[in-house]
Amino acid sequence: DEKRAADLLQGLNPQQEEAVKHAGSPLLIVAGAGSGKTRVLSHRIAYLMATGRSNPGQILAITFTNKAAAEMRERIETLVGGVAKTMWISTFHSSCVRILRREAKSVGMNSNFSIYDSADSLRLITLVAKGLDLDPKRFTPKMIMHKISALKNELIDDESFAASANYSDPFEQAVADVYKGYTERMRSANAMDFDDLIAQTVYMFRAFPGVAEYYRRRFRHILVDEYQDTNHAQYALVRELVGVPGEHNTVDIPPAELTVVGDSDQSIYAFRGADVRNIVDFEKDYPTARTILLEQNYRSTQTILNAANAVISRNPNRPEKRLWTAEGNGEKIIGYVGENEHEEARFIAEEIDRLQDEEGLRPGDVAVFYRTNAQSRSLEDVLVRVGLPYKVVGGTRFYERKEIKDALAYLRVLVNSDDVVNLRRILNEPKRGIGDRAEYSVAALAERERISFMAALRRAGEAPGLATRSLNAVNGFVKLIDDLSEVASGSGAAAALEAVLEQTGYLAQLRSSADPQDESRVENLAELVAVVREYEKDNPEGSLGEFLEQVSLVADADSIPDAPEGSAEEVAAAVEESRRQGVVTLMTLHTAKGLEFPVVFLTGMEQGLFPHQRSATDPAELAEERRLAYVGLTRARKRLYITRSEVRSMWGQSQYNPASQFVGEIPGELIQWKREGMERPAWGGSSGAGSSRYGGSHWGAGSASGSGTGGNISAAPVAKAIGRVQPQKEVISVAPGDKVNHTSFGHGTVLAVEGSGDKTVAKVKFDVGEKRLLLRYAPLTKE
Ligand code: ATP
Ligand code: MG
Repeated sequence: DEKRAADLLQGLNPQQEEAVKHAGSPLLIVAGAGSGKTRVLSHRIAYLMATGRSNPGQILAITFTNKAAAEMRERIETLVGGVAKTMWISTFHSSCVRILRREAKSVGMNSNFSIYDSADSLRLITLVAKGLDLDPKRFTPKMIMHKISALKNELIDDESFAASANYSDPFEQAVADVYKGYTERMRSANAMDFDDLIAQTVYMFRAFPGVAEYYRRRFRHILVDEYQDTNHAQYALVRELVGVPGEHNTVDIPPAELTVVGDSDQSIYAFRGADVRNIVDFEKDYPTARTILLEQNYRSTQTILNAANAVISRNPNRPEKRLWTAEGNGEKIIGYVGENEHEEARFIAEEIDRLQDEEGLRPGDVAVFYRTNAQSRSLEDVLVRVGLPYKVVGGTRFYERKEIKDALAYLRVLVNSDDVVNLRRILNEPKRGIGDRAEYSVAALAERERISFMAALRRAGEAPGLATRSLNAVNGFVKLIDDLSEVASGSGAAAALEAVLEQTGYLAQLRSSADPQDESRVENLAELVAVVREYEKDNPEGSLGEFLEQVSLVADADSIPDAPEGSAEEVAAAVEESRRQGVVTLMTLHTAKGLEFPVVFLTGMEQGLFPHQRSATDPAELAEERRLAYVGLTRARKRLYITRSEVRSMWGQSQYNPASQFVGEIPGELIQWKREGMERPAWGGSSGAGSSRYGGSHWGAGSASGSGTGGNISAAPVAKAIGRVQPQKEVISVAPGDKVNHTSFGHGTVLAVEGSGDKTVAKVKFDVGEKRLLLRYAPLTKE
């Protein structure tokens, strides 16, 4: 064992070794990105066991994602063997679920409580608010939910909020009332939401010292990764488990040994209540604490680190720390400015292709990051077109996102009111008072009279047992669809989509929400409007129906592995998968935390997009955006690209965004520009080549003739890429009349075939309707 312990110290630098060996007092390891914090945690755990200071059951390790947990478990297993299986290595939420289920009985709870996700919580909050006769327009259920969540993260329960709320503020009054009702309903439903899992565990420890004592005796070593992103409830949970002398501590157990690691420069979850002060104040919270700094970086080249150092050093009030590596400078950062987002995406696809050819890189080595989910759309389009396999991690593919499906469902209904699936999808979306019972009653009428569902809606007065209120709601819906149909037939696809988003109230509902996720939904819809506008520009004769067909082509390109729905926990498996399968990983900067990739593209580096518009007037927001930039830059091991586009369409409008100030903060000599923009990076020092930025007219008028050095990106190399990058599979050959089978649409008959080779498109009649399929991608077999 002595030998094994010594082996564990092999290859660590002196500070890392010290951190692994430290014993006794609480330990804080603060260090910049890629300096081995997570690695030290794993080695420390293995070392504790190898030296006999701890047995596996006494260790509780908390990491940010399940992937990190699985990785840590694996590493420890290779170091110490199968006993690692019995250890508690998990996220905050899963540890708490485990504790709560185990202890429920002893504290008078049912151990089979359900866990409500945010959709469930929202439904319940809406109900409670309605019961209180609150005006949902004044205080939306989303706003209330957001506030309740923030309170729970601060460990303020409904009673203490009721006692302290400012009742002259109508919002606080409303929150206090709903919080109380919501808590009661959750209790009687025997349910907990995500925030409850942490908060209730803390409350339980405080109310039942015997339970707390059990866990304090049990866990003698507590280790927390990414401590800078803990919120107050998580902070308190750790403190309860450690058992700080004199605090809620009735028996005489020495406190557990606490090790936390983190980097205040990587704190990027303030919007979820994370509080950097937890790490900044660690020495104050644990006066006997020892702090160890790690400085050497083992992940990236010095060029990448210099860029990251330069950017983060602009943040105020941070202790200066500089990352360095023994690995040498490596390649320069490559910069590229596309004329628009499609060209930017095309450059990325071609670069990946080139790296494969010239340097033997695999797509799985590459990650592409962006600030907002909506940005994945133009990237996905190009990757699909050139046949580079990819995976969107921690988010859903663009055309599978709920808000996009909802909007398209409206458009499909406008084109075909018999489309019963899409019709029923939007019947009560957004909520307009047509509940399940009303829907059922209309369906019964349709069946009885053998008429379509739409026809039955028009005759809803005859529907069995339909309440007057529902009848009015149904009539309103029919009128809405008729109005929208008129717009669609008279004014084209883009006008129809905009009318749908406005007149249904869909957009208004998202805009009034305080949930950050809804903000990204609005951005996605803006992106969809841009898609339609562009389609109309390229196809002046095109109809709404034809647009929808084209969308189906991209959306059907599903021979590429699917992304999971995006909880932070599932990111884990997904990243692992894409590496294993050798596919390019697409993700937001937030999702990228803790990960590393040989090649990283930071895209959309534009002022207003990243840093986000919101930060323009708020220095705290800007500092958080800068930390996010630092996280992004430091994910790269060997090669880093920063790209942006001069023009980007949002809401169908061309926006001329200047370069992100973060680009200007990177010293110019670190970047080799493959193609520069019309103007130099806005904050970039060197005098610009004119400022036609807002000139409008240069868009499309050959701006590549500007200062660029390599602006010869044309369709040709992409065509080359299409030819060379492996087709996903043989293109099947079909002829009109052939019977075929599609993995999603089932049996069908080929009606017509157009084009040839990779571009062959077949028109196929399925039970669900006619589809145009690009044979190269369609999961289609002949029967
Ligand atoms: P982040 O802040 O991004 O979470 P981190 O500080 O947790 O980064 P790690 O992920 O632990 O850093 O380490 C970064 C990389 O450096 C990993 O590939 C790790 O294996 C490697 N590494 C760390 N320390 C050493 C070392 N002493 N010798 C060799 N490689 C090391
Ligand atoms: Mg780490």
